[in-house]
Formats: sequence, C-alpha cells, structure tokens
Amino acid sequence: MGAKDPDRFDLSALLGRLGVPGDALAGGDLEVHSPIDGSTIANIHTHSETEVGAAIARAAQAFADWRMVPGPRRGELVRLLGEELRAAKDDLGRLVTIECGKIAEEGRGEVQEMIDICDFAVGLSRQLYGLTIASERPGHRMMEQWHPLGPVGVITAFNFPVAVWAWNAAIALVCGDSVVWKPSEKTPLTALACQALFQRAVARFGAGAPDGLAQVIVGGREAGEKLVDHPAIALISATGSTRMGAAVGPKVLARHGKVLLELGGNNAMIVAPSADLELALRAIVFSAVGTAGQRCTSLRRLIVHDDIYDDLLPALKSAYEGIRIGDPLDSGTLVGPLIDWRAGDEMHRVLGVADDEGGTVHGGGPVTDGVPEGGAYMRPAIVEMPEQTETVRTETFAPILYVLRYSDFDRAVALQNGVPQGLASCIFTRDVKEAERFLAAAGSDCGIANVNIGPSGAEIGGAFGGEKATGGGRESGSDSWKAYMRRQTATVNYSDDLPLAQGITFDIKGD
Ligand code: NAD
Repeated sequence: MGAKDPDRFDLSALLGRLGVPGDALAGGDLEVHSPIDGSTIANIHTHSETEVGAAIARAAQAFADWRMVPGPRRGELVRLLGEELRAAKDDLGRLVTIECGKIAEEGRGEVQEMIDICDFAVGLSRQLYGLTIASERPGHRMMEQWHPLGPVGVITAFNFPVAVWAWNAAIALVCGDSVVWKPSEKTPLTALACQALFQRAVARFGAGAPDGLAQVIVGGREAGEKLVDHPAIALISATGSTRMGAAVGPKVLARHGKVLLELGGNNAMIVAPSADLELALRAIVFSAVGTAGQRCTSLRRLIVHDDIYDDLLPALKSAYEGIRIGDPLDSGTLVGPLIDWRAGDEMHRVLGVADDEGGTVHGGGPVTDGVPEGGAYMRPAIVEMPEQTETVRTETFAPILYVLRYSDFDRAVALQNGVPQGLASCIFTRDVKEAERFLAAAGSDCGIANVNIGPSGAEIGGAFGGEKATGGGRESGSDSWKAYMRRQTATVNYSDDLPLAQGITFDIKGD
C-alpha cells in the first residue's frame, strides 16, 4: 500500500509542529504504516546494538546526576512536560489516531491521560515519603527512606502508544530515574513526537536536566531484548502480550533486576438480575468495541444471568448494528480499524474456532463499505458460547465479545476467575450483597474490580495492573511510585551504648 500520497495525512507538517525533524521520516529501515489505510507513512531509522548500548550508557550517566536533583525540582521538569502536552494535545492526539488507528476522541483522551499523570507526578515529587519506625533499642531512631533506583527501561505496546510511556516516565523522572523507552515497532512516530516534546520541556527547565535523561530507541523485539539483558537497567517496565512478559520476566530476574509487567487481559462483566440494564448496555458497548477491542482492559467476556439474558442479548445485538465503523479521523466514527490485517485475519480465524466449539457468532466480518481502502475494518462480533472454552480463555486482540449464561452467583464468579489473566473485572448489580461479595476475598481475582462501571477506562489516581498472567505489576497512581525507587531501612544510634537487637549480648572484653 505504499503508492498513496505519502502526505495525505499532512504528516510532515503535523510532525514538524510536534518538533520532529522531517528528515527523521525517510531513508530508514523500519516501514511505518497507518492502520487507517494500511499505507506506508514513514521509513525510519532503527537503532543498532551499538547505538542502544550508547543510549544505556548515557542513561546511566544521566541517572548519576539526576538523582542528586531535589525531588520537587525534578517535579518542575514534569510540570513543564505537562504544559508541552497540553499545548500539543490536538496534534499528538491526531498522530496517535494516524499511527495506531484509534478514533480521534480516544487519541486526544490518551494525551489527556498523559497530562493527568504529569499533574499527579508533580504533586508526588513532594510526597516521596518514608516512615519512622519504633526502634526496640533505647536512643535509636529507625526509618525507611526511598532513593532513586537507576535507569528504567520502558517497553510499550502499540495500542497505548504514548500514555504508557507517560505513566512510567512521569513517575520515574520525579523519582530521580532516567528513562530509556523502546516503543512498539508499529508506533515509533508517536514516540519520536513525545521525545521532541520532552526536549522542549528540558530546554525550558534550564540547567540541571542531564543529557540522556529520557531517550527513545527504535526497533523491534531485539532492541527490547538489549534493554532487558543490560545490567545497567535497574527496572524493566514492560507492557504487552503475556508471551512477551513470559520471555522478559525471567531474564530480568535472572540478572537480579527489577521487573514491572503489564500484560494481556481477558476482562469480564457479570450482569446480575437486579442490574440497571440500560447502564449495563452502554458500559458493555463502550468497553467491548471501544478502541476496536484493542485495549488491555477491553470487555471480552459477558456473563449474564438467565433471568435477563433474553432482554439483554437482543438489545445488545441491536446496539451493535448501529455502531458506526469507519475512518477514525472522522467525527462520529466509534470503531476504527484494527492495527493491521494480521490482526483482522486472526479475528476471523478465532471466530471460526469459536463457531466449531458450538458458539453462535453474530457479526465479525470485514467491513468494506464507507471505510478507507486498505485498513483492517472489522465488524465487532458477539459470540454466544455454551461454555468457557480454551478460545474464550485466550485473549484475542480484536472486538470479540463472548457471552456466557449463569444462574448461580458463585458460578458467575468462578467463570469470571476461570481464565489465566487477571486484569479488569466488573459486576452490574443493584444488590449490595452481591456487589460486596464480588469485591471480597473470594470474589474477583483481578487487579481491577468495578461495580456498575465497565472494565476499561481507568483513572490514573489508582494503581493500574493485574494479577496472574497479566504480570502482577502496578503503574500510575496510588503508591505505584515505589516500584521506581529503592527502599532503605536506616537506623541511627544517638545513645552512648551499643545495644544489640533481640537483646543479644556479645561482649568482646570477655568479662
Ligand atoms: P507485544 O507483546 O507484541 O509487543 C509489546 C512490546 O514488547 C513491543 O515493543 C515489542 O517490540 C516488545 N517485545 C516483544 N517481545 C519482546 C521480547 N522478547 N523482549 C523484549 N521486548 C519484546 O504486544 P502488542 O501486540 O504491541 O500489544 C498488545 C498486547 O499488549 C495485548 O496483549 C494487550 O493486552 C497488552 N497490553 C497490556 C497493557 C496493560 O497495561 N496490562 C496495556 C496495553 C497493552
């Protein structure tokens, strides 16, 4: 699809406004495509092994300097980054849409999430607090303090091409760490734009932000592996498939590095008999077809009580029929393309398997009318399943919603928890006992559990992440910052004696 006008998205002007030099877009070995029509929009340079090594060395040096800058001053840099993002919100949001295909509203929403995390991190830069702990020894003070950790390697997925970097970078920077980012090879342009905006913030910051504080390395899995294997990278924060996490996690642990994994989800909603069905319907549609089903928190499994099944399903099918699928740059489009035809073909294949397993498939075929030629536009699918088969238990990164029935609450929770992943979950109910049981120890086993809210669209104030095959990492709000710092327990003796802990006597005079 390379024959189309290379500048039909006005990409050079757009990237120019974002601060990315035009010559970065041509002559390189990595072809970048727009999912909107599958065409090539840039050929950019990937970093060699030597260049990645040099970037890591710069990051190590930058860390040595940055950790000495007071936290609130580090926060000032992130405040300036937030200002740059505010000014560039429309342009960066549009670039997100062009490069990863999510609708314009969601592209801008992703940038807003970056702004929100910058605001959060600025406040946090004055709140990186430890504890004072009661010592058992007289004349002693015991405390816990948090120090900068080291260079952080950030590996990101294509579907949140900018927000996930910001979640990591804003927090890591106020924590005193440097950052090396390996974006998805499918979305490197947005990464170059973020880097340019970061450099604008650095220029306004004045002295004190070292060279190499935040860097981007462009490349595929191999570039990510260089970060993963490098002993100077103190923390690897990796977002992507469970397959990627299974490769990355053990390697980092084997070299005694720290790892934060944000992997695939297989998120469910239980719709109980007392649910407000209109509310549930809106939540189902947004979370199942939003971002064309390409969110880690997309709704993939709907577990519906027998008593309301025949009310909800027809309403849901009719809502799906009204969804506008098309060019994500057009206002009014609710569902854009999948990232590429490989994803479209995989959706088609999986629907065939679900059908073989006894599922009843509604929708799901390719859309050719009223959409740009060349993009992988697929009609979202609803699949009524007789049981939770292996296909249902597997994350397919496409708008497929499996529907299962239940009659007993415990059975619904067992279905909800009966998958390898543990990211997001929710229940729609007006029964307070059911809601509380869903949130209790024997309820949802996920990192995110909601009542009367869909599974996707988390706020940055809470810790984000999931259990089991989702990797166990937590990013963003709450006390997630602790993953980006090292904890130190320090005890000060201000007495004239040397009492030992546990009352041990160890008299070297021997009398
Ligand atoms: P992916 O796993 O194919 O790639 C993700 C990133 O990992 C890319 O940058 C890739 O180059 C890199 N990578 C792949 N193998 C690697 C290896 N062995 N060593 C080092 N780096 C490696 O994922 P994708 O297709 O880009 O994204 C979709 C997946 O990401 C879905 O499973 C989705 O659920 C998940 N995701 C999870 C979250 C979350 O927060 N839990 C957020 C977004 C996406």
